[in-house]
Amino acid sequence: MTSSLESSVVAEIAKAPINRSKWKHVIVHHSATTQGSAKSFHQAHLRRGMANGLAYHFVIGNGRGSADGEIEVGHRWRGQLNGGHVKNEWFNGNSVGICLVGNFEKSKPTTRQMQSLHHLLGHLKGGGLFNRQLRLFAHKELPREQTLCPGRHLDLKALHRTYGRLPS
Ligand SMILES: [Zn+2]
Repeated sequence: MTSSLESSVVAEIAKAPINRSKWKHVIVHHSATTQGSAKSFHQAHLRRGMANGLAYHFVIGNGRGSADGEIEVGHRWRGQLNGGHVKNEWFNGNSVGICLVGNFEKSKPTTRQMQSLHHLLGHLKGGGLFNRQLRLFAHKELPREQTLCPGRHLDLKALHRTYGRLPS
């Protein structure tokens, strides 16, 4: 799949001093909320005591709180900071976190959100940004995370078919 990520997002991704050897994985999440944006999650995560706020590197909006399919680049990407999106700190240190706004236990992601996710994954995994191919996980596929994230309505089989199979 060719990347047709919006040029403004490509430029914002490239603006970061990309640490090519830091990142090994990309982990997909849902927000488990009906609405939100990078800004609202940043505030919520600060309130939860996370010093760096927004736990994810990227947020993909659903039209409620941010535009449908809009990709927001978080400051943890801009600063190449560890994520705060999983319990396991080893994974937080080497995994790019992408959060789609919505609760996909209850409803499906929007078509635009999935298009944006594909464009972003295509760019991150195929854009030659890193020293290695990033391995794709859904949050619930990590050991001992005890979560339903990113929900049963996000089609993980299709994602793995396109971006690499589940690690065994
Ligand atoms: Zn998650």
